[in-house]
Amino acid sequence: RIGNPDRIVIIGGGISGLSSAFYLQREAERLGRELAITIVEGAPAFGGKINTLHRDGFVIEKGPDSFLARKLAIIDLAKELGLEDELTTTNPGAKKTYILHRRKLYPMPPGLVLGIPTEIGPFVKTGLLSWGGKLRALLDLVLPARKEQDDESIGGFLERRVGKQVMRRIAEPLLAGIYAGDLKKLSLRATFPQFKASEQKHGSLIRGMRHNRKSGAAAGALPAVAKGGIFLTFKGGLSTLVKALDEALTGVERRLGTKVTEIRKADMAEGAASSAYKDVEGARYEVVLEDGERLQADRIVMTAPAYSAAELLEPLADCRELRAVQYVSVANVVMAFDKATFGLDFDGSGFVVPRSEGLHITACTWTSSKWLHTSPDDKVLLRCYVGRSGDEESVNLPDAELIKAVRKDIEDTMGIKAKPIFTEITRLHRSMPQYPVGHVEQMQQLRARFGQQLPGVWITGAAFDGVGLPDCIRQGKEAAKAILES
Ligand code: FAD
Repeated sequence: RIGNPDRIVIIGGGISGLSSAFYLQREAERLGRELAITIVEGAPAFGGKINTLHRDGFVIEKGPDSFLARKLAIIDLAKELGLEDELTTTNPGAKKTYILHRRKLYPMPPGLVLGIPTEIGPFVKTGLLSWGGKLRALLDLVLPARKEQDDESIGGFLERRVGKQVMRRIAEPLLAGIYAGDLKKLSLRATFPQFKASEQKHGSLIRGMRHNRKSGAAAGALPAVAKGGIFLTFKGGLSTLVKALDEALTGVERRLGTKVTEIRKADMAEGAASSAYKDVEGARYEVVLEDGERLQADRIVMTAPAYSAAELLEPLADCRELRAVQYVSVANVVMAFDKATFGLDFDGSGFVVPRSEGLHITACTWTSSKWLHTSPDDKVLLRCYVGRSGDEESVNLPDAELIKAVRKDIEDTMGIKAKPIFTEITRLHRSMPQYPVGHVEQMQQLRARFGQQLPGVWITGAAFDGVGLPDCIRQGKEAAKAILES
């Protein structure tokens, strides 16, 4: 097929698929190579988990709401799309975050990084922990490092280093915000490799995290826009990024509102897999869509969740590592109020709820206080999170019951009795990938096997190497580079 462009089918139009397409298109242009790229997205619109709603002057995020400023892949992409001026940071007057303990809100002690104390003074003063709990945490400074190099659970690691109390009352509810996970099941290496590195390099998690914090600040490597706060978003919401990517993909074909139902491999050898087909113009794969269309593909970029990817690829290859990535369902309940009747002034960005509190909500973001652009001045916006690993029943409560349960929780924790002007419920079933212990090695094995059995198929996205938006963009960029180099 000399002279014919490589046919690349990207499965999934979330941030991973869109970034893969963007960097494939851009790099191909730079190298003067012709590609025929098609994105297939099952939903009627691009964005995947990203979903911003504009309602009555509010900017409401129904999926992710922001991203970590220090992870630069997303800032680089925003710059390339001309969106730098659209970036905005958290309200500097709302830096405090609270943790619920025995139905009382305690401010997070200053210096806590991902739940790990890096300043001893404020840590020993907090009312969140008993003296025994604090002393146990400080034992980390003298406990020897674990010699074994194999992976372990993040929960096991934290218990070993800083004790059960810090793990359960501080670290778990904070980190659960990212994974909605059970820390006893999540891989340390795949989620917080910097914790392990701290133990190995500094002999102590606390010392290592303190060192990282200081050297990070001293390095001053962050661009100006990332220095204003830990988190950033776009003034018009995260869908700004999706829209800009969509507009930038001028040379990319789209198939929206139709799912990939089957992937078939060219029948090149005897005893080919059951889902083999007669190759057309030498294409390696045929991608069959729900609406009956068949796309010829030389390469496939798979960005669907691990369970969907497994369903599509299992007829062609062993996908046990994809099946090992379990997913947790979550929901969020956004409530808008009139400031005049709300009855509380916020001095922070919200609070997280440890499992032991036995509430339906796992966290509550004081959105209008944390992000000033999200609400009219005379209104208040709250976002409550529901569902975590081992506690997903609330997600499926009927709307009225869910709202009742959440309103009871906000009354019990903050004393809020005001009636919302409106409520928006979003259920995200099987949306939070849980990287199991050994995940990094398992993904290496999977990729090596696919390299042999499914040449030209690249798997990328939230199920594989980082769930945050910047990680997904980085993965999309890496996939594009690897494809163009291969
Ligand atoms: P997705 O967004 O899931 O996209 C995959 C796409 O594939 C979907 O659009 C799906 O429809 C499509 N698809 C699946 N199967 C098929 C098929 N067979 N054929 C065609 N299309 C298919 N990250 C942050 O950085 N900051 C946050 O604040 C944050 N908050 C979050 C809050 C929630 C409630 C959730 C669920 C996640 C949050 N995350 C956050 C994580 C982040 O949003 C996701 O990891 C990221 O958006 C995933 O992008 P993706 O493209 O890999 O997957």
